[in-house]
Amino acid sequence: MNIFSVVLAAAGVVDILLALAAFKKKNSPAVLAFTGLMLSCAVYSIGYGIELSSQNLSGMLIAAKIQYLGIPFIPTFWILLSFEFTGFNFRNKKIFYGFLFAYSVVLSASALTTEYHHLFYKDFSVDYSRIIPLFSFHRGPIYNVDMIYKNLALFTCTVLFARSLFKIQPYYRKQTFLMLLGSIIPWITYIIYLLEINPWGLDLTSFALTVSALVFIYGLFNLQLFKIIPVARSSVFDGMKDAVIVFDTENQIIDFNPAALETIEKLSRESIGRPACAVLDDYPDLLKFVSASRKEEFELSIVKNGKSMYFSCRLSPVIRKKTTIGKTVVINNITKHIELLNQLEKLASTDSLTGINNRRNFIELCKRELSKAKRYSRPSSLIFMDIDHFKNVNDRFGHDAGDAALKNIVNLCLGSIRGSDIMGRLGGEEFALFLPDTDIKEAIILAEKLRCKIEANQIEYSSYNIAMTSSFGVFGTRHVNQFDIDLFLKKADLALYIAKENGRNRVET
Ligand code: GH3
Ligand code: MG
Ligand code: MG
Repeated sequence: MNIFSVVLAAAGVVDILLALAAFKKKNSPAVLAFTGLMLSCAVYSIGYGIELSSQNLSGMLIAAKIQYLGIPFIPTFWILLSFEFTGFNFRNKKIFYGFLFAYSVVLSASALTTEYHHLFYKDFSVDYSRIIPLFSFHRGPIYNVDMIYKNLALFTCTVLFARSLFKIQPYYRKQTFLMLLGSIIPWITYIIYLLEINPWGLDLTSFALTVSALVFIYGLFNLQLFKIIPVARSSVFDGMKDAVIVFDTENQIIDFNPAALETIEKLSRESIGRPACAVLDDYPDLLKFVSASRKEEFELSIVKNGKSMYFSCRLSPVIRKKTTIGKTVVINNITKHIELLNQLEKLASTDSLTGINNRRNFIELCKRELSKAKRYSRPSSLIFMDIDHFKNVNDRFGHDAGDAALKNIVNLCLGSIRGSDIMGRLGGEEFALFLPDTDIKEAIILAEKLRCKIEANQIEYSSYNIAMTSSFGVFGTRHVNQFDIDLFLKKADLALYIAKENGRNRVET
């Protein structure tokens, strides 16, 4: 036993403890990758410790083989850790992982059987010229391939961590920086080893891996390294259906999720660090809402490809240590909801057969018009219309023919009135027209015009020609102040009754 072996054995134990500690917190793929990495490192450390305490070649070879039960899996787990930690995703990721593990197994097998094919170590011997006897070898072709793999793996991890360092919110930067540091330390020692400039000819990588593990575990326990980032950032933030954009106090864009990319056209990776006004200028209302930060909620409507879309936006401050460091806006697409509401409103206010106002909505609209008429002292009139002997139409031609006739008459009327006139279906075959800005004389003229049109009209239905007439009761006044809508209806209904009494197909006032 020598001091190096003791240190390596201790490092191995530390690795195992870290693996266990992480595994107990097993709440994400990143933690599982970390656990795998630590166990592989432990095998490497302990194996290397045995190698350094061995005095002869056969002992050293066995120790080297023990190490190769762990070493091939280190870069593989490292890649998994960096992918899962930074949320790096692509299709067939699992298959890719499968390939990496297959490679690790093949490498391990080739190291375990090296004396039979010499593809891993070309040859090996003991170097007695150092302070302790060391295992010495010449690299075989597989060993060289693995050198490339290890460097590529560490390069990939370093790039991924460095990239997410720039991408990520400042809050997570410390954690990502630690991951980057943890990746670079063993890479440096590995390169020193490959260049054969190690002090005393020792491989420092296994010591460096333990240092990395400690850096990682510091994050795991103190900064909740693995807990927050993969869960909070990738799963929740990126997976949200609502668009989220984060701004700093200067209204510069700090972060956003994929849903935001779909919602805001101009948004792209390049938008990070740019002012809100440069990216949201197509949505002036949203921009005002975000910049002013006065209201908490706001409804945004935009027209996209000729289609109206509605969003409910919610602004909330990002507070850290009691000071506001930014704000997030959550944009929720409520188009479907609004469309449904509009549909419901339409259903509740229109008559399903003819598409005109139903009684409730007709009266509502009349009330509004009447109050306007009262304010400006304008005359108003109301025409009550009832189809004559409509029961006969149903009896002779059937209910469907009756429906078609009703629709036909409504269209006839709609074609003859002004845009400001209001038409409603008050009951079965009873209709009313409210005519703002119209005195009784003009109203009678219109009623007479409608009467003639209906009389002259022939409705073709199947093989029938249906002829109909209508009776009209008209009420109009210049003194709108003295009447409400109920009185208008009552008076017009009375006139209609007289029209029916006097023989139908006529207008009475
Ligand atoms: P009057 O000249 O006195 O108004 O006679 P009328 O037959 O028109 O009056 P009545 O009130 O006796 O009958 C109205 C008929 O209108 C009875 C009903 O079957 C028919 N009706 C009401 N609503 C509808 C509808 O939506 N579709 C059809 N096809 N018929 C309807
Ligand atoms: Mg009738
Ligand atoms: Mg009737």
